[in-house]
Amino acid sequence: MLKPFVPLAAFGLSASMLVHVLTLLRLPSPFGEMTGLLHLGAIVVVVPTVLIAQPLLFNAKSWVDASYIFEIPFNLRGQLLLRGCPAWMRRTTTFFGAYVFICLAVLLISTRPGHTATPDTELQWFSGCWMAAYAFALSVLWSAIRVAGRDVLPRCTAGHLVWSTSVRYCQTCRRPVVDGPVSSASGYAGLARSAD
Ligand SMILES: [Zn+2]
Repeated sequence: MLKPFVPLAAFGLSASMLVHVLTLLRLPSPFGEMTGLLHLGAIVVVVPTVLIAQPLLFNAKSWVDASYIFEIPFNLRGQLLLRGCPAWMRRTTTFFGAYVFICLAVLLISTRPGHTATPDTELQWFSGCWMAAYAFALSVLWSAIRVAGRDVLPRCTAGHLVWSTSVRYCQTCRRPVVDGPVSSASGYAGLARSAD
C-alpha cells in the first residue's frame, strides 16, 4: 500500500532538486506552469508518511523499552523512524532538513525591508521545502517497507502489543507475554486493538 508512494517521492525529490539547482543558476524551471504540481505532490506523499510514522515509532517502543512515545528523545525518534534506511539515506534526509533553514535565511535576507523577493527567490525557498518533504517521505516510507515483517513485537495471551521486551506481563491486562516474535505486519493492524 505504501509502495506506490516511493517512486512518487523519488520523482518529486529529483524534480525539486532540478528546479532548485536551476533557480540557483537563475534559470527557469523546465516544468513551466506545472512546477506548482510539485507542491501538491509533496502533500500527497507526506500524508501516508505521517500516518505510517506513528506505528513505525510505536513498534520501535519494543526495541527501546520506552513507556510512552513522547519519552523517546527527539533525536532518537528520527533514528528510530529511519531505522530501515541505509546510513547514507539518513544523512541525506538530515541534510535536506537542515538545508531548509539555509533557504529560509536566504529568503529572509532577500525580503528584508527595501528589497522585494523575486520569483526566483520564492521558487528557491519553495523548492528547498519540497526537497526536504520528498526526502523525508522517501526515507520514512522506505524504512517502513524495509522493517515491515522484521520488527519483533511481543504480545500477551489476550493479543495486546507489549511495549517492552524486558517484561513478562502485559501492561494492559497483566496476562503473561507469549513467547516468540510477532511480525510487525500484523503489529500495525493490531495497534488499534491493543490501544483499548
Ligand atoms: Zn494484555
